Amino acid sequence: MGKIKCHCGKCEITLAADKALGYFLCGCQDCRQAVKWAEFKGGQKGENLQKSIYVPSDILNVKGKENMKPFLLRKGGKSTRVYCVTCYSLLGVDFPVYNDQRFMFIGGHCLTDIDTSMDPAVAINMEDYPKDKELNLPDGITIVNSIHDPDRSWTQIPEVKKIREPPPSNKGIRFSELLKELGSPIILGLEAGADVKK
Ligand SMILES: [Zn+2]
Ligand SMILES: [Zn+2]
Repeated sequence: MGKIKCHCGKCEITLAADKALGYFLCGCQDCRQAVKWAEFKGGQKGENLQKSIYVPSDILNVKGKENMKPFLLRKGGKSTRVYCVTCYSLLGVDFPVYNDQRFMFIGGHCLTDIDTSMDPAVAINMEDYPKDKELNLPDGITIVNSIHDPDRSWTQIPEVKKIREPPPSNKGIRFSELLKELGSPIILGLEAGADVKK
């Protein structure tokens, strides 16, 4: 078992797993906008590069649902992000490609005791990373400009496969079931790639 908790302590998700499937470093504009928006709302500092940590979508217990709300960055947005609306910690993200077998959270944006001590599998969506910001990637890491690139060879890296093809885990509920309980997402109407203005 492992936990994902928000910074104010009102929200807690207990997972069947105690170890992450792995993580990507993600330079995409949507992840960045999502954490910068949370910072604007009074949450944690939003980093430019995200540690996108994946865990099996198998949830044993949820505390503080009344403080959790799902959000979309804009109408038609594909990623549904659940925040604590007291402290604006980002607790979990669903995306259709995850097939409800896994979900994602952002390292440092919530608290966790889940083992995330592995090396990052790849750096993805680096074409979105701001050119004027400092960037320190680990030596030798595979860089994927965009997950939509026709070159899909990165998906064959064993550490990536570990994330994308998790072993079945069915002890509790799926992240999608939690989303259903939380109701319709709030649509923020943020323009793609735009800075969140104070
Ligand atoms: Zn909180
Ligand atoms: Zn991203």
